[in-house]
Amino acid sequence: MNETLDPGLYIVATPIGNLSDLGPRAASVLANADLIAAEDSRVTARLLRHIGVKRPMTPYHDHVADRVRPGLIEQMRTRSVALVSDAGTPLISDPGYKLVRDAHAAGIKVTTIPGPSAAVAALTLAGLPTDRFAFFGFLPSKASARAAAIAEAAGFPGTLVFYESGPRLGAALAALGDGLGNREAAVVREISKMFEETVTGTLAELAARYADAPPKGEIVIVVGPPSAPETAGEAELDAALGEALSRLSPSRAAADVAARLGLPKRLVYERAQRLKGGQA
Ligand code: SAM
Repeated sequence: MNETLDPGLYIVATPIGNLSDLGPRAASVLANADLIAAEDSRVTARLLRHIGVKRPMTPYHDHVADRVRPGLIEQMRTRSVALVSDAGTPLISDPGYKLVRDAHAAGIKVTTIPGPSAAVAALTLAGLPTDRFAFFGFLPSKASARAAAIAEAAGFPGTLVFYESGPRLGAALAALGDGLGNREAAVVREISKMFEETVTGTLAELAARYADAPPKGEIVIVVGPPSAPETAGEAELDAALGEALSRLSPSRAAADVAARLGLPKRLVYERAQRLKGGQA
């Protein structure tokens, strides 16, 4: 396993649960790096113990990154520096992009040892289209900011991937249903660990399931693309709304039509307001 590495920055993906997922090349780089920049040295020490090595480590996480980055870049001119996060691929909802940016600017060699990432692993489990997908990381925790982030995501014509935690799961699924319509989705939990689980259903079904039963562990939400009616155009929406508005208030009409056409409630409500006000 002894090997001299060229000076530079090595981005090393690490397992997201099962330590045996660490590949031989990643293990070799970790075993031979002059220095490992780690998000949490206790977590990385466990991984190093698993492969039977000890290496010098230095912290690289959000609280110290700006301060330590220039010194790390200087070290990379003459030494091999590996960047790891606690789990998965560094830079993906984890620190690191500014380190890579500054390393490029300093003419330092940057290489990656690709490996697990929960977002991609969840896509392989969800059973939803993968030809086009967008990753949104963690949704904001405040309801208004979360709704705004979901409204942005609603326009993307493919599958959506979000990271989430157990306690916030039910509220996040309900907010996704409100903002995106009742799309097909999957809650993927504890990938590569003992209690790995994939639960599929519509956003409404999943929101109901988890409303009062927050699950334990690490979670990815995968939401399928907008359904056909969503892209069918305004004519169908206006016809349905026109009929519903003749017997219901705008908010009830919007809820009724949104559920029927699988459209975001907010979008339908705005349209209902405009139709009611004669502005459409
Ligand atoms: N950089 C990591 C990656 O490449 O996946 C992600 C880091 S982010 C701080 C941690 C989040 O990833 C967790 O809160 C969870 O949403 C997701 N995650 C990480 N490991 C997971 C696993 N084994 N199963 C499901 N989700 C996981």
